[in-house]
Amino acid sequence: MTELIFCSNNKHKLQEIRKMLPSGYILQSLSEAGIKSSADETGVTFYENAFLKADAVYLHTKKNCFADDSGLCVDALGDAPGVYSARYAGHEATDADNRNKLLADLEGIKQRNAYFIAVICLIWEGKAYYFEGRIDGNITNVEHGKSGFGYDPVFIPNGYEVTFAEMTEDEKNKISHRQIAVGKMITFLRNLKV
Ligand code: IMP
Repeated sequence: MTELIFCSNNKHKLQEIRKMLPSGYILQSLSEAGIKSSADETGVTFYENAFLKADAVYLHTKKNCFADDSGLCVDALGDAPGVYSARYAGHEATDADNRNKLLADLEGIKQRNAYFIAVICLIWEGKAYYFEGRIDGNITNVEHGKSGFGYDPVFIPNGYEVTFAEMTEDEKNKISHRQIAVGKMITFLRNLKV
């Protein structure tokens, strides 16, 4: 079994990624790896933040690890909330606060195309590798659905008529930005093992 630390304690992301990893890998969360806090996301790009989070854990543990940074970019808002997705409505904001701010900012705006992006930084034997996933779609006028997290209730992926929050976890996992990025990382890991 190969140990891999996922530099996060986000249970939704952990659950998503655990379902995707091939056999042979054991995924540990930050807390399961005995690490108390994660690095501050002080970068201005998804790539920088993913690296900052992974590098902090690697320096501490010297173990293979990866971190992701993800967010929602809305065209009409100049790609905001972007790297600030988790704290769009302020540092203490809840997911619901962030969604409310987004819908308020887009009130009356017809052009509602947006995309979710996830960037993974994998530190494997001391070297950093990056994997990116993106899914395009549109922001709704009101929330629909209760599952998922973050902006799921206000995002309809292209080619669908329901939001991420109206899909089952498995349906979302098949097409999500994180799935695409994790898929690329898995291909990389599989190739390492042959
Ligand atoms: P981070 O990647 O943990 O820094 O946070 C990214 C933020 O972007 C989350 O707190 C959510 O608000 C949003 N986000 C990222 N991925 C998703 C997703 O799959 N669904 C809904 N919101 C997401």
